[in-house]
Amino acid sequence: MSLLPQNGRLVVVGGGLAAAKAVEAALACGFEGTTVLVAAEAHLPYERPPLSKDYLRGEAEFAAQLVHDDAWYRERFVDVRTGVRAERIDREARRLVLEGGEPIAYDALVLATGSVPRLPAIPGERARGVTVLRSKEDADALRGELRHGARLVVVGGGWIGLEAAASARALGSEVTVVIRGEEPLARVLGTELGRFYAALHEEHGVRLVRGDTVVEVLAPGGAVEGVLLASGQRLPADAVLFGIGADPAVGLAGGAGLELGDGVLVNEVFQTSDPAICAVGDIANYPHPRHGRLRVEHWDAALHQPATAVAALLGSPRAHDREPYFFSDQYDVGMEYVGHVPDPAATRVLIRGDLAAREFVALWLSAEDTLLASMNVNVWDVVDEVLPLIRSGVKLCPLRLADPTVPWDQTTADQRIPPAPPE
Ligand code: NAP
Repeated sequence: MSLLPQNGRLVVVGGGLAAAKAVEAALACGFEGTTVLVAAEAHLPYERPPLSKDYLRGEAEFAAQLVHDDAWYRERFVDVRTGVRAERIDREARRLVLEGGEPIAYDALVLATGSVPRLPAIPGERARGVTVLRSKEDADALRGELRHGARLVVVGGGWIGLEAAASARALGSEVTVVIRGEEPLARVLGTELGRFYAALHEEHGVRLVRGDTVVEVLAPGGAVEGVLLASGQRLPADAVLFGIGADPAVGLAGGAGLELGDGVLVNEVFQTSDPAICAVGDIANYPHPRHGRLRVEHWDAALHQPATAVAALLGSPRAHDREPYFFSDQYDVGMEYVGHVPDPAATRVLIRGDLAAREFVALWLSAEDTLLASMNVNVWDVVDEVLPLIRSGVKLCPLRLADPTVPWDQTTADQRIPPAPPE
């Protein structure tokens, strides 16, 4: 049964890739009704990966980041409301209420509200020169601080912190990254590969402060002058970037009484506890066919989940079976990661290729020698090769797997890959 009649009204909330893809999916499915897009940001939906990379370095125009330009929406009669915050959902009346009180009726609602970057509750956290990195405005503000020789302190050794550190070094800023643990990215990649990224940054002149955190931003005159660390050390700074993670923006969903639990709980086609409302992208906590419940804060999820959600709303549900995927570029090192490793610290990782030359594939194996995830670093065309291995759950031969001369399809324990379920 279709929840969204062909001549009904679809309302999409969000200003990122997932929101634009939901609109696009409805049109691709032949939806002939009214589509309304409500975005709190003042821009048309845009892609965020460049904000810490080429856009931050001033090498790319913002217009190139728009998922679609103004004409695209206009020609398709999409009612786009940018710079407007959705305030609440009246589920009984099936209305989205905008700030200011304007109600928009819907037959189906797609929530793609994304994440909110964390700021620690410490003195000085709102001083001039302190930024997070989520929006165009954040990137513009940070870019404005990154003069040649400016001193940037990055708090957090996650993807935002490291990509921004690499961009800041390219712009000639002095960069210190403060991380709580021993190696950056260790929680995602484990210690060995965390050390790989640490060495890459240190080689490019980044100072890494390990096992410490910022307890105060020093800004006696209102603008950042430095930070105080838990160890008592003071670091001078002209700018501070907090890259300490993000929280799913679930206020709208929670306020409407939708079921929450690390994000918005959805079914396998991204319907919330109210089937007329879907949640996609960063906020969606969904049952993955192999990994149990997952919430994936990656570009690829925003790219693909909306099509599944919208197809189901239009009465053509289909299976959603994608391995989590993301990429990162830092200096001259590019990588792609595919798969899911719940606990990298407790998971065996093999290196296929040359770690020292920075051309390798890292492969995480389960205790049963099945492939959980892979990360190809400066080696390309790997993802399509490893996906059948991950998806089939076939037992692999670690020796063959670690040998780059052995073709991927000959790395199984019995040299045969059973057919994987279709995507
Ligand atoms: P993240 O990747 O989750 O990393 C957060 C980092 O901050 C972790 O290393 C964490 O350390 C550290 N941290 C947390 N609280 C801290 C504190 N109080 N003091 C010091 N360090 C602290 O988050 P992010 O880098 O902020 O990125 C935000 C989101 O954007 C994430 O979902 C990320 O995946 C996504 N993103 C993705 C890409 C990409 O795919 N290339 C690029 C940019 C952003 P512990 O490990 O010790 O907790």
